[in-house]
Amino acid sequence: MKKETHHILIIDDSEDDRLFYRRLLRTDTEADWEIIEADNGSDGLDICRSMVISCILLDYSLPGHNGLAVLEELKSLPYAVPVVMLTGQGNEVIAVKALQEGAQDYLNKGDLTAEAIQRSVHNAIEVISFKARIEEQQAELQSFANVLAHDLKEPARSIALLLKYLKDDIADKLEGKSDKYMGMISDASERMIQLIDSVSSYTFLEKSVAKHEEFTLDAAVEDAKSNLDAVLQERNAIVIYDSLPIVYGDKWQITQLLQNLIGNGIKYCRNEVPSIVIKATENDNEWTISVRDNGIGMKEEYLKQIFVAFKRLHTNQEFDGTGLGLATCKKIVDRHDGEIWCESVEGEGSTFLFTLPKVKVQELEEQQSA
Ligand code: ADP
Repeated sequence: MKKETHHILIIDDSEDDRLFYRRLLRTDTEADWEIIEADNGSDGLDICRSMVISCILLDYSLPGHNGLAVLEELKSLPYAVPVVMLTGQGNEVIAVKALQEGAQDYLNKGDLTAEAIQRSVHNAIEVISFKARIEEQQAELQSFANVLAHDLKEPARSIALLLKYLKDDIADKLEGKSDKYMGMISDASERMIQLIDSVSSYTFLEKSVAKHEEFTLDAAVEDAKSNLDAVLQERNAIVIYDSLPIVYGDKWQITQLLQNLIGNGIKYCRNEVPSIVIKATENDNEWTISVRDNGIGMKEEYLKQIFVAFKRLHTNQEFDGTGLGLATCKKIVDRHDGEIWCESVEGEGSTFLFTLPKVKVQELEEQQSA
């Protein structure tokens, strides 16, 4: 089998060490390494900018520019380079930090063998190419979602509109079941528009970068209410909430989450006056927010299934919907490191609960990496 040729860059200030790694890589039977060397971080970075490097063996304790600083700067390259960090004995904390900062692996300089270094380099290259393939697939999915959102919605809108004109024109000529069929086509086109909207807002969450900030939950509830104004009025619904806490998260996403829960609370309710009560309870590290309704409720066996995309418990004849509302809620809560669940008794209403961390996400990240 033909061996592959890759450029491998060794960044280490010790000439002896560089020579040692060369020797260990030479016996590799699976690849031919074209080895390039740099004795400091800046030169190493310049080399990466001037050519595509397949993998870097990076010494942690470089003079001036240490290994972690080089890792940071590598992020600005137009391509992703696999990095194996080489650390001294007892430097596990640094090794963990290196992995968190983007290195694919670390090796202890004290017990390097040819097998260990070769395996590590091959794995690092594989991990990066796997990640690149995933990113490519996600980009393809995203462009499909964009087509769905823009290109498909346009004809669906036209069908709905033209149908309306047609119906106005021939209203008095419609005979037999034609009127009924016309109504069914019109409902189907409305449902198609609704589905396209739900799918595109669900997939939009994937690509959108969450903008975390502090905001009062009251403000998000108010925004959600104003987005639901028409349905609130039409159904005579009321939304009650005490003063809610300041939370840290993406306000647009949390508003969307509340809007879906309040909207469902009103939709899945047969009472004269649908009523939604929103409360917050403080725990050690998080807030638990509850959204309670006086609607139809549901059987216990469905309480988990309803968060799965496209899972619906009713037909469109009973209640309109796409089955993406709660899946979107779950995705939003996941993105805030929280949990969402539902407590319900059939015929007695449902309470949806979700948690939001009290501390800022940055603080969480700092704590985790400390
Ligand atoms: P959709 O409302 O578009 O069907 P959702 O994902 O929002 O989709 O909800 C999934 C299913 O969960 C719904 O079809 C409904 O059967 C059930 N459900 C959601 N919210 C409630 C609620 N507040 N009360 C009762 N059932 C609900």
